[in-house]
Amino acid sequence: MPKELPQRSCIACRQVLPKASLLRFVQAPDLTLVPDLQGKLPGRGAYTCVKRSCVQQALARKQFSRAFKGNVTLPPADELVRQVVGFMEARVTSYLALANKAGKIVSGNEQVMDFLRKGKKGVLVVASDISPDIGEKLLQTARRSNMDCFSFSTKDALGALLGKGLRSALIVTESGFLDVIRNEMGKYRNFLEGGAIENG
Ligand SMILES: [Zn+2]
Repeated sequence: MPKELPQRSCIACRQVLPKASLLRFVQAPDLTLVPDLQGKLPGRGAYTCVKRSCVQQALARKQFSRAFKGNVTLPPADELVRQVVGFMEARVTSYLALANKAGKIVSGNEQVMDFLRKGKKGVLVVASDISPDIGEKLLQTARRSNMDCFSFSTKDALGALLGKGLRSALIVTESGFLDVIRNEMGKYRNFLEGGAIENG
């Protein structure tokens, strides 16, 4: 029989999921509530779905306070949401940087389009500020070969990440990075629930 994955319920909506599919929060030594994206920080954890709305709801309904028996300092909801997003972006960025180092990234509009036309395996990442025409063309071509597509970061930041000039799109090519990046990107998109976060 397969080993059962440990499960937890979201303190906001009560949905029960494997721990790895939820967001973990812990108390820092100063009792501030902090997101623990790797699920490795010591101490008691409280879990929510990977959804901005569940984090907001848990704060609004004082469920974090209950989970930590009143002994926790809570940040304002928008600050906590920004923290989670920031940590998620940092994780995705570090995986992309590793994939780049390993030579598993194709970038530049023409190179990306070439790759897409060949129908090979990969994950397409487009910058949020890609020009709509180019973006639409790349996405359509990617969908034809059932490639997963994600919107992430800006042209400027993607370029900097790859050590290049502006990059509006990149592909993570077939490698050990594919699953982990797909998974992290999926969580990120899920958390945002289709809405952007204002930077502040
Ligand atoms: Zn939930």
